[in-house]
Amino acid sequence: MRVLLTGGFGFIGSRFVRLLLNPGEGESGWPVEQVVNLDKVTYAANPDLLADLSGDPRLLPVRGDICDAELLADLFSRHDFDAVVHLAAESHVDRSIDSPEAFVRTNVLGTFHLLEAARNHCRHRSAAAKEKRFLFLNVSTDEVYGSLPPMAAAFTEADGYAPNNPYAASKAGAAHLGRAYFHTYGLPVITANGSNNYGPGQFPEKLIPLMISKILRGETLPVYGDGLQVRDWLHVDDYGRALLAMLHQGRPGEVYHVGGRCELTNLEVIHRLVALVNEHLPPDSRRSAEALVRFVPDRPGHDRRYAIDCSKIERELGWNARETADSGFRKTVQWYLEHPEWMERIADRYRGERLGRSL
Ligand code: NAD
Repeated sequence: MRVLLTGGFGFIGSRFVRLLLNPGEGESGWPVEQVVNLDKVTYAANPDLLADLSGDPRLLPVRGDICDAELLADLFSRHDFDAVVHLAAESHVDRSIDSPEAFVRTNVLGTFHLLEAARNHCRHRSAAAKEKRFLFLNVSTDEVYGSLPPMAAAFTEADGYAPNNPYAASKAGAAHLGRAYFHTYGLPVITANGSNNYGPGQFPEKLIPLMISKILRGETLPVYGDGLQVRDWLHVDDYGRALLAMLHQGRPGEVYHVGGRCELTNLEVIHRLVALVNEHLPPDSRRSAEALVRFVPDRPGHDRRYAIDCSKIERELGWNARETADSGFRKTVQWYLEHPEWMERIADRYRGERLGRSL
């Protein structure tokens, strides 16, 4: 199988590529001959995360933009891909509030160019190649559904989109395009809606690595609004296994929700992280969450609750989340503690300042 992976130097991509190249025991699928990692290497990219795989001849990094139609045509003609796993995106909600244009460009226009390149590729495949499965895995998010009332049932794949911030709207646009390419052109597109991922190597603008880095530095922990916004937390390797299952067994035209069955408020997440980091600190350096938390004005358009029902992928593809908040948060804290040099390097690009306040 030859795969075009976009955004492989990002958080999810850098974990997913490991599973793709070396699926664990019991994971089904075809052997992977080549993975072309097309990545623009934006501020969010971390090529270091894949340094240990640089000797793998199956992995070919290509620095480039998914909006570059000529580059895409060239890659498709040279590599005869069997699948596209489309992860590249501008991914941080706060930045989308400050600068929405980059989100529309990469997430909407970039997805359009990729779909077009895949459509042209499928049209011109040889008769023998057309016998083989081709798949475009369009990676979306639970944020496209908008905010869920506190007691309401989790969103299912049948629910309609109601995005409330520019990031979510741009991802909704990308998912709509994928759906349209399936229905209009018959391009075999699957849409994956994942909940909030966490794990090793996440850029520290996101809640969990931001809080871990601040707790370690003994800084106050800024909490948006009352901190009672609810998110469903999913370990990045559980998401990776779900993407792998969709790639190999998913039905074209379908949407699959992937969640961790782990709804927590932001405050609950922070309390757990403080307790886990404290386990590694000498008693006189430990601080309580109450002492560290500082409530700050809420994010504009902040959705109150996200929760998605992942029973379809569990039932149809036999996927289940393996990590719980206890096991996954513990491993994640451990990773950041063991990689202070990585945190230092990132600090050149982002120092934990507040983003996304402008209205
Ligand atoms: P990330 O920001 O960590 O990485 C994005 C990667 O895409 C970076 O390596 C960046 O260089 C690359 N990129 C950005 N613009 C590009 C362009 N124009 N051309 C080529 N490459 C470009 O993001 P992530 O957290 O790994 O998320 C990956 C995907 O999963 C995104 O589509 C995101 O919307 C989706 N998603 C993320 C989460 C989450 O919690 N992180 C949850 C659900 C869905």
